[in-house]
Amino acid sequence: MGKNDSLTPKEIANRIKAKGLKKLRCYCQICQKQCRDENGFKCHCMSESHQRQMQIFGENPNRIVSEFSEEFERNFLDLMKRNHRFSRVAATVVYNEFINNRHYVNMNSTQWATLTEFVEHLGRTGKCEVAQTENGCFITYIDRDSEGYLPQNAY
Ligand SMILES: [Zn+2]
Repeated sequence: MGKNDSLTPKEIANRIKAKGLKKLRCYCQICQKQCRDENGFKCHCMSESHQRQMQIFGENPNRIVSEFSEEFERNFLDLMKRNHRFSRVAATVVYNEFINNRHYVNMNSTQWATLTEFVEHLGRTGKCEVAQTENGCFITYIDRDSEGYLPQNAY
């Protein structure tokens, strides 16, 4: 690992850029628009379409937050279903996979302040089985059919 210790701030910045994290910052959640860079983001924020979205948001922020929350939950459960359908998995592992997809809603646009809070919500509403362990929080996707019933042979 010796080589990594001597990275200059510029090299670190370049790595972050290569990973696309910088790009992520230039994503407008309200318009769901990805901007090229910070400059593009500034231009976008002054655009008429963004101002209109902001106005709608300002008139009814609760509705928008609950829409983002619903979408966040749906995206998260889809990912669970696709990648971890039959296994117990650390909540942070799923979350890391989740944030790698920039099309997904960012958690800071939802009603949940932390991942723990969101996971507790999943447990409370019966969407996932939640287990708090000394190694962190683990979740298991609860498989249901389209009507919300558990499949007959599940247990
Ligand atoms: Zn915007």
